[in-house]
Amino acid sequence: MKSFRTRLILSNTIVIALMSLIVGGALAWLNLSRMSASIDRELADRARSATRVRGPGPGGGGGFGGGGFGGGPGGGGFGQRGPDRPQGGPRNPFNDPIGQIRRPRILTEAGEPAGPESDVAFDPKAIPLSRAEPVYTEVTYEGELVRVYTMQFEGPDGEYRIVQSARELRDYHELRRVQTMALLFLLPLALLGAAGAGVLLSRSALRPIAALREAIAQFTEGDRSRRITVQGNDEFADLTRQYNLMADRVDQSFAAQADSYAALTQSYEQQRRFVADASHELRTPLTRIQLLAANAMEDSDSERKEALRMIHDSTQGLALLARQLLDLARADAGELKLRLEPQDLRAWVADWLAADHGVPKIELTAPDAAVMVAIDPALMGRILANIVENARRHTLADGRISIEVTMDRRLRVSDTGEGIPEADLPHVFDRFYRVDSSRTEATGGTGLGLAIVRELVRLHGGEVTIESKVGVGTTVEVSLPVPQQMSEPS
Ligand code: ATP
Ligand code: MG
Repeated sequence: MKSFRTRLILSNTIVIALMSLIVGGALAWLNLSRMSASIDRELADRARSATRVRGPGPGGGGGFGGGGFGGGPGGGGFGQRGPDRPQGGPRNPFNDPIGQIRRPRILTEAGEPAGPESDVAFDPKAIPLSRAEPVYTEVTYEGELVRVYTMQFEGPDGEYRIVQSARELRDYHELRRVQTMALLFLLPLALLGAAGAGVLLSRSALRPIAALREAIAQFTEGDRSRRITVQGNDEFADLTRQYNLMADRVDQSFAAQADSYAALTQSYEQQRRFVADASHELRTPLTRIQLLAANAMEDSDSERKEALRMIHDSTQGLALLARQLLDLARADAGELKLRLEPQDLRAWVADWLAADHGVPKIELTAPDAAVMVAIDPALMGRILANIVENARRHTLADGRISIEVTMDRRLRVSDTGEGIPEADLPHVFDRFYRVDSSRTEATGGTGLGLAIVRELVRLHGGEVTIESKVGVGTTVEVSLPVPQQMSEPS
């Protein structure tokens, strides 16, 4: 889990350490090599001026241990000898070891002193090596580490002589030591700094990732409302935005799926109940018919006649039930098609009442102006028939049934019948719902009438409601929408 972080810090540290090593080392090397080049140049200059050699400058260039001498040893006098004191301060060469060291020595080829001063060679071993070209060597001379330049030249008397110039390397080694120390001291500091920077950097870089990880974990565990606040405008902000977007989408499709699953379950449950109820409703009259027919075969003529009448009634009920079931099945399948016609609702209801000879008692109240609606007359007839049939069934002979048509396209059927208990009222539109099956057993209802009414009214784009009070009466109201391409009358 922490490996990316560790890798980040480690690589950061290594890179910074390497960089400081390289830069520090390069600077140190540059410094030291410049110093060594200048020491070598100084040694050659001093040797040449001791022999008065004239010629091209030292060839081969800087760096200890490198380089030859450009021109061969040329001719020229050799006179001026003695201490070659830098900047000629008033120094006693015999009390000044550095001054002693810096004074070039003129020697024979055998390394013997060649001048009046009994000089000894700084580095006798370098003399044979310098025959071909001048050489630089390093030796300890009187306890002091020195760099020696050895060059052969032709003296005024034609004999070959050797000149050796030397320089102490104290300052050079001091510089090297200081630089190494500085590097060794700075390196751990750089490493520490790099590691610290790596920790801080990785912490800030990994914070959004940690937030994302936590959000995803919570999302996976079911908290689909989890979103992350987008901060800044970098790649992580973009990633966060993308995550939020994805979470939104997943959440939406989850919700949609849950909705459709719930709807599916509900409609499946409804269908299952519907089929169970329908089978039950079919079984009762069929059993009765079977029984009646069986008995009738053994009965007398008059009893047989009565049985046949009852069988006839039962099959009528069955036919009605079959028709109601078919209507509902068609409505469920979306197969019921409306054939809408513009109608004046007042006139249409009046015509319907006139055609229905069985109901002389129904009164119609309607406004003076036309109430225009778009209806399928056949289906609207079924709606009204169902409602009126209910009112008739539940109202005594001396009761009253009335129909009211209003300007705002409402059709109200009221009766002064027995009414419906409050607890049953919300369910009367459910399929197969009967307020009291023992009460309706005699009247032969199956509880599908109002369910069909509701489907048909919905198909018209309208709404049906019911109000009732036990012992007072019931009102069923169908409200129809404003017909399309017709404006509401003002
Ligand atoms: P169906 O209409 O299928 O022959 P039904 O009349 O019993 O049977 P619905 O028309 O759906 O079924 O009515 C459901 C129940 O509501 C009825 O059983 C009845 O008890 C009650 N009901 C409906 N209309 C009235 C009314 N006007 N007065 C009193 N009760 C009513
Ligand atoms: Mg009914």
